[in-house]
Amino acid sequence: MAEKSYEEEHPTKAFGWAARDQSGVLSPFKFSRRSTGEKDVRFKVLFCGICHSDLHMAKNEWGTSIYPLVPGHEIVGEVTEVGSKVEKFKVGDKVGVGCMVGSCHSCDSCNNDLENYCPKMILTYSTKYHDGTTTYGGYSDSMVTDEHFVVRIPDNLPLDAAAPLLCAGITVYSPLRFFNLDKPGMHVGVVGLGGLGHVAVKFAKAMGVKVTVISTSPKKKQEALERLGADSFLVSRDQDEMQAAMGTMDGVIDTVSAMHPILPLISLLKTQGKLVLVGAPEKPLELPVFPLIMGRKIVGGSCIGGMKETQEMIDFAAKNNITADIEVISMDYVNTAMERLLKTDVRYRFVIDIGNTMKI
Ligand code: NAP
Ligand code: ZN
Ligand code: ZN
Repeated sequence: MAEKSYEEEHPTKAFGWAARDQSGVLSPFKFSRRSTGEKDVRFKVLFCGICHSDLHMAKNEWGTSIYPLVPGHEIVGEVTEVGSKVEKFKVGDKVGVGCMVGSCHSCDSCNNDLENYCPKMILTYSTKYHDGTTTYGGYSDSMVTDEHFVVRIPDNLPLDAAAPLLCAGITVYSPLRFFNLDKPGMHVGVVGLGGLGHVAVKFAKAMGVKVTVISTSPKKKQEALERLGADSFLVSRDQDEMQAAMGTMDGVIDTVSAMHPILPLISLLKTQGKLVLVGAPEKPLELPVFPLIMGRKIVGGSCIGGMKETQEMIDFAAKNNITADIEVISMDYVNTAMERLLKTDVRYRFVIDIGNTMKI
């Protein structure tokens, strides 16, 4: 049997930008989306953030990419159609979709609102959906998603600056809560002041936590302190500064996207402190064991968050006026934006204005 073309696979035409190979270069791509199923929400994509994971995936740095690959998992838009059994949404609602669009709904993780840890979790792009077809992300004109994986965007949040909350926001909010680093008076370090890092500062501050940014970029210091509200700033390559801060932190959230030593970060922790890795470099990091043993310290990881917690995070953001600091770009700027992201040249998240600039 001849394989159907991407445009004929499903009944509804769709348009996006896709990477075709490991160069990661994106270009226009015609494909199709399924009809609106009874539990599906169809929406017009208005904005989509550019997460560093999009860059890792476009270049197949984690070895799991399926090409053509339409990235994008910080997606917001307006509902255009709902299936007959959809309960939470109606046409016209402002909604968002993050990193996942499916799970098994029956394992322990799913039963505990932790769909993000379901062994059968289906990612928003480059994963096989229940029907066997490949998922495509938000660098596209429309989305069709099971309502379970759709969140409501509260009215007071601007859609463009809220988009990055769908991945960057939940990825830092969840470990602050889970690892009990959300108590007023605690001291938390945030490593890497990029998309994830800058919203981590905002969430931790809103929780009443003292925040220190640990960065390779001295030029970000003033902004971190004055605009983002961090309490202090360490340049990770400045040994004296790092030395002076040793043993002072209850927790450290590491958002770094590239290879880097974690011994200096473990040294920043108090006895029984926790280093939580959320950045996902392509190669394993070296784990020094003695400093952990000698301080009963913990190294952990965390992956986005479950759907219930994602809605809770968005509502917390709305209540505390937390959004991302963004640079809005047009669709045809995406390849330049990816190059700049790799050089950490963004304050602090690119968001694509899909609604106005996605043209066939
Ligand atoms: P980003 O905006 O590029 O930020 C990463 C930051 O890391 C940079 O701004 C930079 O901060 C720092 N950095 C970059 N290269 C470095 C190096 N060689 N050494 C030390 N620091 C360096 O990326 P992002 O979108 O926030 O994503 C960060 C990482 O988290 C990526 O690996 C992404 O795939 C991963 N991620 C994980 C999850 C999850 O569920 N666990 C979810 C989303 C993303 P400074 O300039 O301040 O040093
Ligand atoms: Zn992401
Ligand atoms: Zn499951």
